[in-house]
Amino acid sequence: MDIARLIKAEERRQANTISLIASENYAPSVIRAAVGSVLMNKYSEGYPGKRYYGGNEVVDKIEQAAQAAARKLFGAEHANVQPYSGTPANLAVYNALLDIDDTVMGMSLAHGGHLSHGHKVSFSSKAYKFVQYGVDPKTGLLDYGEIRKLARIFKPKLIVCGATAYPRAIDFKKFAVIAREVEAYVLADISHIAGLIAAGLHQNPTKYCDVVTTTTHKTLRGPRGAIILCKKELAAKIDKAVFPGIQGGPHNNITAAKAICLQNATTVAFKQYARQIIKNAKALAAALEAEGIKVCSGGTDTHLILVDLSPLKITGQEAETALEKVGIVVNKNMIPGDIRSPLDPSGLRLGVPAATTRGMREAEMRKLAGLINQVVRQPKSKVVLERVKKEIGKLCKKFLIK
Ligand SMILES: *Cc1c(COP(=O)(O)O)cnc(C)c1O
Repeated sequence: MDIARLIKAEERRQANTISLIASENYAPSVIRAAVGSVLMNKYSEGYPGKRYYGGNEVVDKIEQAAQAAARKLFGAEHANVQPYSGTPANLAVYNALLDIDDTVMGMSLAHGGHLSHGHKVSFSSKAYKFVQYGVDPKTGLLDYGEIRKLARIFKPKLIVCGATAYPRAIDFKKFAVIAREVEAYVLADISHIAGLIAAGLHQNPTKYCDVVTTTTHKTLRGPRGAIILCKKELAAKIDKAVFPGIQGGPHNNITAAKAICLQNATTVAFKQYARQIIKNAKALAAALEAEGIKVCSGGTDTHLILVDLSPLKITGQEAETALEKVGIVVNKNMIPGDIRSPLDPSGLRLGVPAATTRGMREAEMRKLAGLINQVVRQPKSKVVLERVKKEIGKLCKKFLIK
């Protein structure tokens, strides 16, 4: 199989479809160039100034620049920029703060949490005793009273907050207050909303929480990877838990790309981008509701929307498949209280960071809502699918990926 041709094919697929996958973005070419740079040739186990290999004078500067950019962007005391991705970052934090079989609280996947927050198929739940909390199925909102009650019953050593499919603002301060009451550590996983936090559009947990993890490839629009932020007191523990705890040599090419992405996120242009993300998400949610499509929790404060398809005659898998046929790429998702299986749930998760990077604004969101509405109501109509596909083709030509 000729991989170079397949990469070209993927480039065409991305150009000719619109990603409404909430965790995806289009990284700029400077980031992609750093990822493809000669930095990938270098071994650098250890940390700046304390390496197990020679020849790291340049890599040390790059890693220090990434650490400084991360601390500055989020107002953190310490940053570890080596985690390979979001899941290993979370495992490293567990490795740093917990003993095997300790009790931890995390948000259930079915209610918007991440696999690495204690789902039964994840290593996290094999190593630690996870107690899962969720949202109030009626409102779709985090129920802090219930979370506090669970914390007082189970006395966890760590409470994990942050989500992967929660459309509303998260009150990290409230989590921190609950954690303090039961003498638990608190980890905020801001993977999805880091870009919004960087732009000052969502509460920043750095002040309140012991540790913060985030991926760099979602709203932050950087390379695939993650960082860990923490208070000074935990710095040595966290660093040791990443390397040599669960990782080997850092991916220096990615570290450089993380530095660029974190520096980019301080610019006025990035703040405008983040503001447009929220405007777009609100416009898409309102337009879907105007079409009679049910939106969980009645809207969004962030970059993502959860659509409840249960009043319609279509499942999440069927909707994902039909939308893919017309060039709208989304993912099926459980909705709070879902009675269907994760393989064919009742909902869709829609996110606008990638479409916003392409330059789309509220008018395009309203257009997309209309097109999505036609597809989910008539997923078997060839005429509808053909017509919508043409419209998506036009949008893709107008809003190019740079
Ligand atoms: C995406 C995500 C992760 C995991 O990131 P990977 O890089 O895919 O391992 C972890 N936590 C949350 C909340 C996420 O949204």
